[in-house]
Amino acid sequence: METPEQAPGHNPIAQGPRVDIDLGALAANFAMLAETAPGVPLAPAVKCNAYGLGAGPIARALRDRAGARAFFVVYPEEGAALRESLNDAETAIYCFGGPSEETLPLFESAKLTPVLNTLDQARLWAARHPGAASALHVDTGFNRLGAPSSALADIAAVKGLAVTLVMSHLACAATPDHKMNGEQRARFIEAAQHFPGAQLSLAASGGALMGKAYHFDLIRPGIALYGGTPFAQDDARIKTVAAFRAPVLQIRHLAPGETVGYDAAFTADRPTRIATVGAGYGDGYPRAGTGRGAAIIHDERVRIIGKVSMDFITLDVTDMKKPAEPGDIVEFFGPALRLFEAAAAADRTAYDFLTGLGARAHRRYL
Ligand SMILES: *Cc1c(COP(=O)(O)O)cnc(C)c1O
Repeated sequence: METPEQAPGHNPIAQGPRVDIDLGALAANFAMLAETAPGVPLAPAVKCNAYGLGAGPIARALRDRAGARAFFVVYPEEGAALRESLNDAETAIYCFGGPSEETLPLFESAKLTPVLNTLDQARLWAARHPGAASALHVDTGFNRLGAPSSALADIAAVKGLAVTLVMSHLACAATPDHKMNGEQRARFIEAAQHFPGAQLSLAASGGALMGKAYHFDLIRPGIALYGGTPFAQDDARIKTVAAFRAPVLQIRHLAPGETVGYDAAFTADRPTRIATVGAGYGDGYPRAGTGRGAAIIHDERVRIIGKVSMDFITLDVTDMKKPAEPGDIVEFFGPALRLFEAAAAADRTAYDFLTGLGARAHRRYL
């Protein structure tokens, strides 16, 4: 292991939870997606602090190790922070949210490229930056952000507007054979007719793995880079990037009939060894993992028992071959326990598990 890169301004809690991030695996996932779509550039989504993993270090690694030349965030504030971390002027940073009167100065100072979603945004951008590159999000059925097809003729007619990228987003990429994927693709191609010469982008991680028909000119992957599958099943092509770990703080011995934790939710029915671990829902391990989640200590799998609390999780370590001791490192997901499985056990997806990881959990880059 290399010396971990410290997140700036963050004091690790020596005994607390940490998120170990494997930048080599991140680059390998990028390469895997690039191979799936030969010749199509990948512009990673690093919104929401790169799904909780740290937008700056993640984007720098994707640029320096994998060759990414463009990124997507949602808000211009995220874009400006990213520009600072990248410390270059050339990398394109797109902001899904688009500009407003208040945020235009930030687009200018941080050299951000807006993703326009409405006729008003198109007019605002074209008036202030005639001829400057912009992306346009066309809504093809998601009905969240983006311009409806009825607005496209008016947007295309805006004087001074230069749309260099037309994009849309699939609602049902988690289910590749869902009929809506083909319908959205057809509407996307139709919408793009209004903007001849623009590059086209429809796919995120799911679309990237759904085949050539969805690749177009640019892919915007997020979750698959970070070790999660966009689909309803796990996908072995995606390498584990993040590991959520915390140390055992204390070992307790219970007699039959004794209980553990809030609401006395677990009752020992035999002499039981309990390991108390320094991580909880305050660090992003969902309370829903109570009684269902698993963890790994010395390559052995153990069960979460008792309620997951804000700062602590209790494990039944009675049957371990090598007894757990204070200081032992527990993995809640990572190379030994796939994120997909851990998330499912806690009623989560990889997306909300990663983005929910708490600020107290120290990010270490390996
Ligand atoms: C979040 C997002 C992405 C990335 O999606 P993944 O499923 O994580 O690959 C791409 N495009 C848009 C518009 C998004 O909101």
